[in-house]
Amino acid sequence: MVGSSPMQAVLVAPGVKDKKVLAFRRDALKEKDAVAALMRTIAAGGVRSAFYVFDLARVVDLYRGWRRALPGVRACYAVKCNPEPALLGALAALGAGFDCASRREIEAVLALGVQPGSIVYANPCKPEAHLEYAAEVGVNLTTYDSEEEVIKVKRCHPGCELILRIKGPDGGEARVDLGTKYGAHEDEVLPLLRAAQREGLNVAGVSFHVGSGASNTDVYRGAIEAARGVFDAAAGLGMPPMRVLDIGGGFMAGPAFDEAAAVINAALERYFGELPCVEVIGEPGRYFAETAFTMAARVIGKRTRGEVREYWIDDGLYGTLSCIPMDHYVPQPRPLAVPRAGEKTYTSTVFGPTCDSLDTVVTGYQLPEMSVGDWLVFDDMGAYTTASGSNFNGFSTSDIKTYLAYSS
Ligand SMILES: *Cc1c(COP(=O)(O)O)cnc(C)c1O
Repeated sequence: MVGSSPMQAVLVAPGVKDKKVLAFRRDALKEKDAVAALMRTIAAGGVRSAFYVFDLARVVDLYRGWRRALPGVRACYAVKCNPEPALLGALAALGAGFDCASRREIEAVLALGVQPGSIVYANPCKPEAHLEYAAEVGVNLTTYDSEEEVIKVKRCHPGCELILRIKGPDGGEARVDLGTKYGAHEDEVLPLLRAAQREGLNVAGVSFHVGSGASNTDVYRGAIEAARGVFDAAAGLGMPPMRVLDIGGGFMAGPAFDEAAAVINAALERYFGELPCVEVIGEPGRYFAETAFTMAARVIGKRTRGEVREYWIDDGLYGTLSCIPMDHYVPQPRPLAVPRAGEKTYTSTVFGPTCDSLDTVVTGYQLPEMSVGDWLVFDDMGAYTTASGSNFNGFSTSDIKTYLAYSS
């Protein structure tokens, strides 16, 4: 880490250092009110379309929180969650590694000066061209959960080491389940280990992902226990000792994180306590991104139908609010304007800008009377938002500007 404090290191990080960073005070204000006050200043400066504020200090706090709660686990940020260059640069400056799932993601991370050894190519099923690129740049650790993948890795990147991705136990009640698509079942573990042995590829360790936004933290315990079983199975086959345990992602910032960390630390002690040489890594995405980004969308249209108010805003389900259908985000927008005491509210509908009636952000939602040119604020908009928006109808997600800021 360069600089005398983590925040200073972040401010000179690639992706941050050439950009303007707005300082703002949290002081007496609650964090969300402080961000809204900053957004009012930005809007008053003449901005006329949806924008984001990304609070770098929040990432510094979250990184510190991770280190405190999970001191033995290296955070490898899952780029797919939000590839904002300033977020990647900040995390690199803080010392994080990265979970990349494609050539583009690897390129973005290497461009920050990150060493290829700090990247896990954590996509169990990779296009051949992307694997060949990983070989070229020296990203030599990837996940797998099928025999076909072993053969492909052998062909396209024979120097690569493998991490066997297993499907953890069910019951995570995650916001987004990943287990229907990925992870070896229990009875597939031995054949998959043998396949790697046969092809002469080293299996360096085991990974799992309990699902994104896991609310039942006990699933981590079951998954860590299952991972230990795979370490033992590999030893039973006479394979070299495994050295990596990858506990995946799924974490949410807040009290749920501390709860998950307690479960994980206890399980690591119990199942891996006698294997001190094992490096434990995690692949948090949502944890670092979700709460650090706030979005303001502009009211671009309005219709009054009796007592009902209908508004159009310039971001929607085909833009960064794609998190509503894709990530089960529950929008609770509030006006950017300072609330007035005793203000009457109306049952309101808020539409996105595209000509698809599916593009509806909220219905039956209470809002004070607003006008064209007013703004709605959406909190916690960093996870699976800008990353999965489209250009549908000519409304381009990438036109939505992100202002960097840091609170103190
Ligand atoms: C999506 C994903 C992550 C990140 O998940 P979060 O729930 O955002 O923490 C980590 N690892 C893999 C393999 C993923 O696919």
